[in-house]
Amino acid sequence: MKVYLSIDMEGVGGIATMDQIVRGGHGYPRAQQLMTAEANAAIAGAFDAGAESVLVNDSHGTMDNLIHSELDPRARLIFGSPKLQCMAEGISADHDLALFVGYHAPSGSRGVMAHTYSGYFTEVRLNGEPVGEAEINALLAGALEVPVGLVSGDDVTCDLAERGFPGVTTVQTKVAHGFNAADSLAPSASCHAVREGAARAVRRAHEIRPTAVPDRLHLAIDMPTIASAELAEAIPGARRTGARTVERDLDSPSDVIGMVTVSYQLANQGLRSMLGPLHRV
Ligand SMILES: [Zn+2]
Repeated sequence: MKVYLSIDMEGVGGIATMDQIVRGGHGYPRAQQLMTAEANAAIAGAFDAGAESVLVNDSHGTMDNLIHSELDPRARLIFGSPKLQCMAEGISADHDLALFVGYHAPSGSRGVMAHTYSGYFTEVRLNGEPVGEAEINALLAGALEVPVGLVSGDDVTCDLAERGFPGVTTVQTKVAHGFNAADSLAPSASCHAVREGAARAVRRAHEIRPTAVPDRLHLAIDMPTIASAELAEAIPGARRTGARTVERDLDSPSDVIGMVTVSYQLANQGLRSMLGPLHRV
């Protein structure tokens, strides 16, 4: 049983504010501790249930958040960015199960710090339906026949995961009270629940089907500004379907992630050009 673990930060117990999730914030070092503890909890749960290996991908922001010296030495760690497969970097057909820990709700939903890859995308849709990071990463895993066994995060994230991934184990670490507010488990309780959830997911891995990849992958991204939509329209094959909306048909989940990654940078660039030289994005 080879386990892949993608860990984000917004859905970790005890985290709800921007100050915690952006490097340089006063709360960020504390959030790194919380994220590392939940990564270790998931790793421990996977090994408790008989996993032979766990590959961790640091999936938040700079993708260099986990405190390496405190990481469970049984795990391997992918970190840093950019990475071609972004939050799902390193997943392969050798893996038997994927765990998504510390995840958050999609752009436009009411979850804690809800967004889809970029905080500046106002919505991302796949085949007409709003999607989050869990759905897109699950498609890449599905293309490799790897099922998603565990999703942890706030109540909105867990509700969506239960609807989208039949048989998945969810761990609700907090209840959303607003974009930057939550009623959270204490970190130790959150870690305990994640450890139990990861163990349950590994034990039940054979019961879960990988996410099916639809024949058609039509991605639409609502960009933050006209300028950023104009830049994204320049991506070969992309079409501008609204003042701020760019759409493109893609051949694979991997290409969906590529389109998102490039659009992420163009969203930032478009904002910079609008705000002028005195503002940094
Ligand atoms: Zn994140």
